[in-house]
Amino acid sequence: MRLRRRSFLGATAMALSSRRGRADQGRDVSMEELDRVAREPVLRLEGLGSPVEIASMELLRHGREYLVRVRDRGGAEGMSVANSMHLEHTYPIFVNRVAPFFRGKDARLLENLLWELYRHRDNYKYQGLALWVCVAAAEFAVLDLLGKHSAQPIGDLLGGVRRREVAVYRASGTRGNTPEEEVEDLRRLVAESGAKALKFRLGGRMRQDDADSLPGRTEALIPMVRAAFPDLTLYADANSSYSVAKAIEIGRLMEEHGYAFFEEPCRFDHLGDTKAVADALTIPVANGEQEASAYGFRWMIAHRAVDVVQPDLHYHGGFIRSMRVARMADAAGMKCTPHMSGSGLGYLDAAHFVSCLPNPVEFTEFKGNAGIPVRSDTSSLVVEHGVVQVPSGPGFGITIDPAYVNEAQVVRA
Ligand SMILES: [Mg+2]
Repeated sequence: MRLRRRSFLGATAMALSSRRGRADQGRDVSMEELDRVAREPVLRLEGLGSPVEIASMELLRHGREYLVRVRDRGGAEGMSVANSMHLEHTYPIFVNRVAPFFRGKDARLLENLLWELYRHRDNYKYQGLALWVCVAAAEFAVLDLLGKHSAQPIGDLLGGVRRREVAVYRASGTRGNTPEEEVEDLRRLVAESGAKALKFRLGGRMRQDDADSLPGRTEALIPMVRAAFPDLTLYADANSSYSVAKAIEIGRLMEEHGYAFFEEPCRFDHLGDTKAVADALTIPVANGEQEASAYGFRWMIAHRAVDVVQPDLHYHGGFIRSMRVARMADAAGMKCTPHMSGSGLGYLDAAHFVSCLPNPVEFTEFKGNAGIPVRSDTSSLVVEHGVVQVPSGPGFGITIDPAYVNEAQVVRA
């Protein structure tokens, strides 16, 4: 049996290395095994015996928000809310390259259609956020349509709902304020949500010189936040701020204060540096919100470059692609948590994903509710006592105010 380095570090070596080196968790898994796991079908099509032929797929715009409306031949409708923050810039790809592909297709074949869409007119050359936010918006709408046809929530379509209550962490979006100001902001986030977990930002964001957003902010903030919230689970995100040496120094400080994960310590696409940091620390390292490639995730998982994979449901191209990442991680005994895009109904997307995730972390990201008028018969759609209830109705289980949809304009090429 091939032994991973951490498995090889037996009791003596672990003792010699003191706290350095990750806790030995997870399982050895080969690339071939991960490929096999990723090929397993994600979509469950029970209750979908007849073709669901897509008649139209439209992009609607209401102010700064973008919606996708898909209709089948029988007039049934699926709706999704796109990642509007990015679709504002990439919508021509949706209108010209993604939406036309779906017309006339059987929605039940969505899983295979995603690959055909990737090949269609060389769409793969656009791989990255620009393509994936468009594909995700389309996929979400088709899933909503399939959910309505089969009377299943998204989580059942994606393998089966395991939980309907999702405990959230509130994430601060600020960097560059003083540590005292940041602690006050975090107190407000806890007060308004009852969240039992928090995340905040470290370092200078994509710096090449390890400089902080304010001198000494990070080193002051890590112990201050712990002292202010002694009972909360704490995560922190460096947004690609650090060299390996600096990331290890900051990670050790987080370990000292009992933090639960360290996100994007090094440049997000420098997987070797990220692995070097993860190997040196005991605190779990998380990464993946910018990862566009399934093979990028496979490499991270096979090499244990991270401890927690963080696909963004929009930036990685939808629920199905992200579930494959989660399943590969699960095969390696690793956790998965969705990164939440800060626009649209990102909180709801994340909650549905976690509802059926085999290997979630304890808390899921929540950045607040968007200004889109939605309601649900099965969820208040707000965080109560730190928990959001996942809607259990068909598809996304929500209704977007019909007046709002009527006011939206169809976006043309
Ligand atoms: Mg992040």
